[in-house]
Amino acid sequence: MNHAYPHLLAPLALGPVQLRNRIMMGSMHTGLEEARGGLRGLAAFYAERARGGVALIVTGGIGISEEGALAVGARLMCRPADVAPHREVTDAVHAEGGRIALQLIHAGRYAYNPKQVAPSAIQAPINPFTPRALSSAEVDRTADDFANAAALAREAGYDGVEIMGSEGYLLNQFLAPRTNRRDDEWGGDAERRMRLPVEVVRRVRAAVGEDCIVIYRQSMLDLVQDGSTGEEIIALARQVEAAGASLINTGIGWHEARVPTIATLVPRGAFAWATARVKAAVGLPVIVSNRINDPALAEALLAAGEADMVSMARPLLADANFARKAAAGTPAAIDTCIACNQACLDHTFSGKMTSCLVNPRACHELELTYPPTTAPRRLAVVGGGPAGLACAHVAALRGHAVTLFEAQPRLGGQFVMAARIPGKAEYAETIRYFEHELARLQVDVRLGQRATAAELAGFDHVVLATGVVPRTPALPGVDHPSVLSYQQVLGEGVEVGGRVALIGGGGIGVDTAHFLADAPAHEAQAEAAFCADWGVSRDLQVRGGLTTPQPSPGARQIWLCQRSAGKVGRYLGKTTAWAHRALLAKRGVQILTEVQYEGVDDAGLHLRVGETPRLLPVDHIVLCAGQESEQSLRAPLEAAGVAVTVIGGAERAAELDAKRAIDQACRLAATL
Ligand code: NAP
Ligand code: SF4
Repeated sequence: MNHAYPHLLAPLALGPVQLRNRIMMGSMHTGLEEARGGLRGLAAFYAERARGGVALIVTGGIGISEEGALAVGARLMCRPADVAPHREVTDAVHAEGGRIALQLIHAGRYAYNPKQVAPSAIQAPINPFTPRALSSAEVDRTADDFANAAALAREAGYDGVEIMGSEGYLLNQFLAPRTNRRDDEWGGDAERRMRLPVEVVRRVRAAVGEDCIVIYRQSMLDLVQDGSTGEEIIALARQVEAAGASLINTGIGWHEARVPTIATLVPRGAFAWATARVKAAVGLPVIVSNRINDPALAEALLAAGEADMVSMARPLLADANFARKAAAGTPAAIDTCIACNQACLDHTFSGKMTSCLVNPRACHELELTYPPTTAPRRLAVVGGGPAGLACAHVAALRGHAVTLFEAQPRLGGQFVMAARIPGKAEYAETIRYFEHELARLQVDVRLGQRATAAELAGFDHVVLATGVVPRTPALPGVDHPSVLSYQQVLGEGVEVGGRVALIGGGGIGVDTAHFLADAPAHEAQAEAAFCADWGVSRDLQVRGGLTTPQPSPGARQIWLCQRSAGKVGRYLGKTTAWAHRALLAKRGVQILTEVQYEGVDDAGLHLRVGETPRLLPVDHIVLCAGQESEQSLRAPLEAAGVAVTVIGGAERAAELDAKRAIDQACRLAATL
């Protein structure tokens, strides 16, 4: 028995099938499913996770029919010819001792398909198409389509299937009065709305036999108006168990919900209670999910009896070896998912290949590799922000002798400030991971040391990851004592008064507004504060688990200003920007766009909004006006004939972005 995580690492018997531990890789559509060259990339992606010790993998959603697929052209499992390509995937996972289940999806009104179908002809707010209502006979045939796809999945070598019944997809649409306005055998009252999901489980079990894992992914909390009640959710779970499911997995929130469910501003494990109340009502094993990225939390949830297994999708993108490292008792070696969504869901929802901000190899396993070097070199990396850390790490992994210079007394660069933003504490985990890895790989880390060109001249290659310096706009009065840089506020902790104007509404302006608006909440109250902010209710009778939000007021009076038109934070990720803007509104932050700054004096910030002059009578003005590259070492090094490569913000401040910086750093270090 593992002493650190005895519950998480205990095996689980599902009838004749044995799982080696309680860690499941949850479903995530990556884009590899539709790769032109077939499923070789997907096989490599999952095989690496199976080798890393995960017990069970669930694939991304595969359509059970053309009309039910996520989009036109998406991969299907509905004809005999669909089976063969999957064997490469199942064989690869089995060769590593893992188990894999195929997720069967019918997207209903979420299908990006003008021929989409649904229980009723009601358009989803996140889809341009209006569905056609299925006839009674077509609903019956849809249950058969699930069973047919499950039988084909077995032929393809899958150990099981997951029936996608959450997140607002077709089966979820049948359950909720929001989307099911039928009055036939498939709708009308709660019992009839449940009939299709239960029938699907029954027919799937009949199609695959007893030695196959059948997971039902159930929405434990819809987070939309007219969703299911808690009582209906419990009743469905009982019927799903009776219909022959092996496991119930958790889904939280429909895709159209306006409550964040997995972003970093959601406290860890914030929705586990919704799974726990279903677990208490059924006998089959139940899987918990959402914002669980750490073995200690996973262990605590299982030890408390809130669930029997833990599903993690993004944490397994971030670190394929999560389970192996937990089993080895080295959690500090885990590259933790920081729940930023920037390279995973933001990519998925904009049609790009999924990857991971902290691990650019995710979904690129065949093309981005870190083989041991045959010609070790002496490498200097200047700058200990995300780009420098990632470069030093991969170079050292490959066997180069690496020295890392960081002018500040600690590693992390922009991530040190990011970790201080409310809801972004996870960014500290990336720093912890790199600190652990650089120590393990014996990188010579020189903190508090600003490298000089003379010192660097003796290295075979110098990587400049010196980052950025904040931009100071040319503004009358910019040297007034009330004007601060965001670095002074976020980095140095300079005190800020009760009335503040922020100049610049990019990612850092939005982050600084959160920092100044949020009264520090005690960690123990984080979950309650989150529920109050977003109106999440635990009442069993409340439809959708939604109530009136009661957000805590802002701690200061704040104006967030930008010269351009449009929304602030417009370059933030698609899946998170809306939540950041909504939270700023809840805290009473006032947004001023299309402003012209006129100057700062003792009275405050003078500006024009359109033609109207305004004075913002503030105590402080914080500059969040972007950055400029810091690469002053480049010219002297090049003049001295030293091989230099500039990466990250030091190379291009206009796109200062950790995703690009880490990707660029890893790709460079892979070729040195
Ligand atoms: P940014 O996104 O380029 O925004 C800079 C802001 O400053 C803009 O709103 C710009 O708006 C304003 N500005 C630029 N020059 C100005 C001038 N001379 N005078 C007055 N205002 C000026 O830069 P950032 O906010 O520093 O963010 C940098 C990067 O960090 C971003 O690319 C982002 O990817 C990343 N980041 C991401 C997150 C995240 O949560 N994903 C959070 C923080 C940062 P106007 O020109 O309209 O005034
Ligand atoms: Fe996690 Fe961000 Fe990586 Fe997605 S991109 S897996 S959210 S760290």
